[in-house]
Amino acid sequence: MRYVSTRGAAPPRDFEGVLLAGLAEDGGLFMPETWPVLTTAEWRALRGLPYPELAARILALFTGGQPDLATLRPLLAQAYAGFGHAAICPLVQLDPRVFALELFHGPTLAFKDMAMQALGLLFDTTLARRGERVTIVGATSGDTGSAAIEACRDRSAIDIVILHPDGRTSEVQRRQMTTVLSPNVANLAVAGSFDDCQDLVKAMFADAPFREEMRLAAVNSINWARVALQIPYYVAAALTLGAPDREVAFAVPTGNFGNVLAAWAARRMGLPIAQLIVASNRNDILTRFLAGNDMTVRTVEPSLSPSMDIQVSSNFERLLFELLGRDAAATAETMRRFRTEGRMPVPDAAWRTATEVFRGFALDDQGTLAEIARLHAASGYLADPHTAIGTAAAQAVPPVDPAIPIVVAATAHPAKFPDAVKRATGIAPPLPPRLADLYDRPERLTRLPAELDAVESFVRAHARRNAA
Ligand SMILES: *Cc1c(COP(=O)(O)O)cnc(C)c1O
Repeated sequence: MRYVSTRGAAPPRDFEGVLLAGLAEDGGLFMPETWPVLTTAEWRALRGLPYPELAARILALFTGGQPDLATLRPLLAQAYAGFGHAAICPLVQLDPRVFALELFHGPTLAFKDMAMQALGLLFDTTLARRGERVTIVGATSGDTGSAAIEACRDRSAIDIVILHPDGRTSEVQRRQMTTVLSPNVANLAVAGSFDDCQDLVKAMFADAPFREEMRLAAVNSINWARVALQIPYYVAAALTLGAPDREVAFAVPTGNFGNVLAAWAARRMGLPIAQLIVASNRNDILTRFLAGNDMTVRTVEPSLSPSMDIQVSSNFERLLFELLGRDAAATAETMRRFRTEGRMPVPDAAWRTATEVFRGFALDDQGTLAEIARLHAASGYLADPHTAIGTAAAQAVPPVDPAIPIVVAATAHPAKFPDAVKRATGIAPPLPPRLADLYDRPERLTRLPAELDAVESFVRAHARRNAA
């Protein structure tokens, strides 16, 4: 199994190369050279497996034997051992047609744990075998960072520096990152938006000498291994609801497009997915694209769902590459114009192809609160603001066929966003016992301006301190 860059100017790599590199040298994103496609019988054979076993088997389709299934099995069992639910990601019925796929039972109470807990172990195992170490740098609008930190804390082959937009994450999100005092963990509060943080991370990766010196690696959603680790839960939900003998649809609260891209990948692998709803808050660039081929960047507006306060969805490039018939030169040129002109020129035929599967849906804060209240009144379910945008999308977007169930990716535990949930329902959802003292733990963070020099100096000092 080989991986190619969406921009075509980087050498192909194997799975481990992609895992450790994150972004390709040409600024592109890695994609499998060919997609594994399962037959109906092969999908049926996956029914009823415990989640870690299912995840190991799906991931093995993308590793080309390195690591092999026998290595992946214990690794994935360990990754999900700390989850707070025996089903790992239970499916909860909300109404006759709509289900919530709860992806928030991991250590940081958000869906990022589903991939990240396994990713930290994959990194550590791979590095240990090679006798290497890395510095992980990542940008987060909230949840990626805490999930990455939980996955990498105290691991000997890894230093980790996470950038977050100062003051724009929820207090729970910030504390889940800044209260981890492990010596290999550092948090940077950057004066700017999430997109600024993401640009800084991309700039560090583009700085080849720095990248080499620090042995930079990524765990944010541009890392292919993360996308691959997000495919199994779509498979699990679909199989539970009757696939491959019954179609399903998904509504996915979306920011960087990584989670919904994993659902698209499952469809590409032959899972019968009738529709994918891309649910956004008022930062609705993807909704505008899907409605009228208008991918124009606007300023990022803070919202009640901060993990979706994103205008430039980095994983969209992977879909673009597919929409353009895997023409890497055209992808590179489209991305260049998007960067310089702030508007992505997608050919009409490619846009039309996207709209055959994807629907967009956007909801402002007022609508989000109304949906949290409606859902609670209708079914007693408490949804966080991200999840609520997904459930609202499932109600609002006309189904391809009303007999097809729709699964909403429930991306965060309601206790992660207690203020919004309380405003909408009058109920303050409690943190699970393992996080109950979060507000009393000491924090550690460093504030920096959104300047590459300052950030690189910090990363260098942090990584050196831990150098062997
Ligand atoms: C990260 C995140 C999202 C967005 O996921 P993407 O893969 O970036 O599209 C949605 N909801 C929550 C709670 C998140 O943490």
